[in-house]
Amino acid sequence: MQDIPQNHPRYHSLILRKKISEAHKNGVLAESGLIAHGRGEAFDYLLGEKTIPPAKKAIEAAATQLLLAKHPVISVNGNTTALSAREVVQLSSEIEAPLEINLFYRTPDRVDKIEKILKNNGAKKVLGSINQKYLPLNGLEGPRSLASMEGIYQADVVLVPLEDGDRVQALQDNGKTVITVELNPISRTAKTSSITIVDNLIRALPLLIKQVQKLKVQERSRLVEIVEKFDNQENLKKSLEFILADFKDSVRS
Ligand code: ATP
Ligand code: MG
Repeated sequence: MQDIPQNHPRYHSLILRKKISEAHKNGVLAESGLIAHGRGEAFDYLLGEKTIPPAKKAIEAAATQLLLAKHPVISVNGNTTALSAREVVQLSSEIEAPLEINLFYRTPDRVDKIEKILKNNGAKKVLGSINQKYLPLNGLEGPRSLASMEGIYQADVVLVPLEDGDRVQALQDNGKTVITVELNPISRTAKTSSITIVDNLIRALPLLIKQVQKLKVQERSRLVEIVEKFDNQENLKKSLEFILADFKDSVRS
């Protein structure tokens, strides 16, 4: 693939596209992952490609919820692997949570490739691989209903970046607290999650890791207070207000 000139005004965005398209070529990402990335790009444009204050608030609540969890799990798909393999591995070691591969278009080859990438990035425990024991989550059908017995099936808190709305709903219906990273604040995923971080995964994960490191030393009562104060619907509204304010400014100028 052609090199992207560093002085290109959309350099960072083009680098992400390159990572995504290479992951597709290498069989890590299904075709629909390319489309999902495109939809994400559009919403990121509306956010000004920066982490807005409501996202920072959600990141703090997410870090807290993950630290309070008895059995947290991080769900990983093709897009997450393509963009942020190193960071999900680092987060998993910071909060001592296993990574679990969950794919919409699940093939043994893709699962295998993702597992290798995660392990090459230092992952100690990767669930969701081919030979593992699964149980189905109530309310879903087919390969998407699968939850690793050791992982999501018994998890209390699940971080699911870029997840589909109906799987988030099913996870909630099965008693899980769901944290998602989702650029579209009006998607079903955003609306059904317990904590929605409206930000690009590549910006949100490093901030989430920092918050975990900072909050780890806090008293449990302080952590409970942070989670109890957080209101996801209110925070989503604020995210939308940021987007709308930007639109209004553009109309005026
Ligand atoms: P719904 O949540 O309503 O079911 P959907 O899941 O069907 O919508 P998709 O296009 O399948 O929508 O999912 C892709 C979602 O992932 C989009 O909402 C997009 O904004 C989000 N997304 C894509 N790339 C990123 C990224 N790098 N960081 C955060 N979110 C992203
Ligand atoms: Mg979604």
